[in-house]
This record gives sequence, structure tokens and C-alpha cells, in this order.
Amino acid sequence: MIIILKKGAPKNEVDELCRSIEAQNIKINEVKGEHTTILGLIGDTHKVDMEAIEAQEIVESVQRVQEPYKGANRKFHPEDTVVSVGGASIGDGNVAVIAGPCSIETEEQIVNTCMQVKAAGASFLRGGAFKPRTSPYSFQGLGDEGLKLFLKAKKATGLPIVTELMSLAHIDLFDEVDVIQVGARNMQNFEMLKELGKCGKPILLKRGLSSTIEELLMSAEYIFAGGNTQIILCERGIRTFETQTRNTLDISAVPVLKALTHLPIVIDPSHATGKYELVMPMSMAAVAAGADGLIIEVHNNPQKALCDGAQSLTPKHFSDCMDKCEQIASVLDKKVGTRQ
Ligand code: PEP
Ligand code: MN
Repeated sequence: MIIILKKGAPKNEVDELCRSIEAQNIKINEVKGEHTTILGLIGDTHKVDMEAIEAQEIVESVQRVQEPYKGANRKFHPEDTVVSVGGASIGDGNVAVIAGPCSIETEEQIVNTCMQVKAAGASFLRGGAFKPRTSPYSFQGLGDEGLKLFLKAKKATGLPIVTELMSLAHIDLFDEVDVIQVGARNMQNFEMLKELGKCGKPILLKRGLSSTIEELLMSAEYIFAGGNTQIILCERGIRTFETQTRNTLDISAVPVLKALTHLPIVIDPSHATGKYELVMPMSMAAVAAGADGLIIEVHNNPQKALCDGAQSLTPKHFSDCMDKCEQIASVLDKKVGTRQ
């Protein structure tokens, strides 16, 4: 971190600022120019309150030279993090596949769809019991009842399950959930992130609708700071001016994140595009870009789906999509889902 002081800053005030910084175990390198004095801070500056320093009368500006996240930073943890749960892994060099319906609707729907995605090679199941809907009049999910049905699908398939937590008030219901999803709308629900830092379960953290990559990493940092290192990042499309797709899939987020962090990255081509016919090409692109996994919506009858039918694949389409991803992955010497 670099602090640029105002011209003529009184020495006693500068000394006082330096003392307060040094008290945080940070060394200061002072560079006096003809017109400007610069303080170079050396040490672990992640916890230094940049805004508080900037607010001081004698300070012209403050600049960070290092990323503000430490736990998620690849510089401090060069090896890839592998998240392993329920016999499946994400981040181990292959392409994990999380698949299932947007929402859990009936026992028949969830168990049947999950059996079919398993048969096609999915390594995790997805399904929403608590749904974040734009309209309060839309189907809100079956809640507690939905989670119970999802557990039946978990039992029938033997695959680990991923489902969204919308409120900390529901966390006690998530005991048998393998991976807790934090939805795009909750990416900056900091109180939730802090609690999830202590929950002892892997977290799938989705990128916010209009969040930068750094903001996504700072949200991961909240979970990390609580002691939970089992975090999977998810790029699910961001808001742009484009209207042809539901969101704009930021494929470049994959290599960018891979360089910045050791955490695994999965792509959600379903919410990114909003159109089932775009799911296969975007899944292939994600695999080609080096994603650690995919999270794909599949419904046994998309036309009758209570949520996101337009972007849901049929089990047959999903199986075709897996075939194509397998072809791309083989070039990179990777496996897809549970396919050998
Ligand atoms: C979902 O995955 O069910 C979902 C609602 O996604 P997002 O939070 O990315 O909109
Ligand atoms: Mn959905």
C-alpha cells in the first residue's frame, strides 16, 4: 500500500500517522520528493483501513499495490484447492458436473430427473427448495418439504447435493446438504457469508448480477476469514446492455480467476444464457476455457417446469451436452463428471 501525503503536511501529524500504522506490525518506507512525500507500507496490509487513512487531512491519496484478499489469493496459496464431498470432487483437474432442476417440484420430478442426470454422468445434483424469484407471486419453492424430497433423490442416486440457502434462519434444515449454494442475489449478504465461514460445509458462491471479479473474491474472502476454505466460485453471467441472452456469460472470468485464486471455478451456462439451446455451446466453451465444473439445469419436462423451463435441458439434451463436453475435455486430458 502506498500513501501519498499532501504538500506541507505537518511533521508531528505524519509521525502520528506512521506510529498508528507501525502499531499494526507494518514497516514504513518514507520517500521524500521535492513536492510530495510517499509512505510505502511493507507487510500484511490486508487489514489496514484504507478509507480511514484516506480521510485524514494530511493524506492526498492511498493506493493498494496488492489485492485486498489474502485467503483466496493464489500468491499466498499456489496449489489449487480441491473441494471433496460425498465421494465427488471439484478442482481436481477434471470437470465436475452439477445437474438437476432449477426447483424441486414433486418427488417424481426430482427423483426421476436426478436418476437421469446421474445416468448421463453428473457428479453432483442441483435443485432449489428456497427460490429467489423476482416476483413475490412466482413459485417460491417448496422450502423444507422440497429439501426432504431432495434427500430422497440423494438417497436414490448416492450423489452429493447442492442447494441454495436464502436465509440464515433456514440453516438448521441444511444438515444433510453437501454443498450450500449462495445465490447471485446474496453474494454480498455479508452476515450470511460470515456465518457460512463457520458452517463446516463447502460453499458454492455465485457471482452477483453486477459484481466485479474482485467483489466476488472479496465475498469468498468473508467465508475464508471465518475459517472455511471449501469454496467453489461460480460465474453465472452478468448484467450488460445485451438483451439476446438473459445475462452475458463472462467466459474470460475463468482464466482471470484461475490466475488470481486457487479456488475452483464452475460455469452456470443455464442462468447465464436463459436459453436451453445455448447451454451446450457455452458448456463446451467453459470446458475449453479451463473451468473446473459446470452447473446445468435439467428438467424431466421443461415445458411444465415451475421455474426456468426455457433454459432447462431435457435429460436427453443433457446427455448430448455431456458427450460434447467430453470431446472438448479429452483434448485437455480431463474427464467430465463421473464418465471414465
Ligand atoms: C439458481 O442457481 O437456482 C439460481 C437462482 O441462480 P442465480 O443465483 O445465479 O440467479
Ligand atoms: Mn434457475
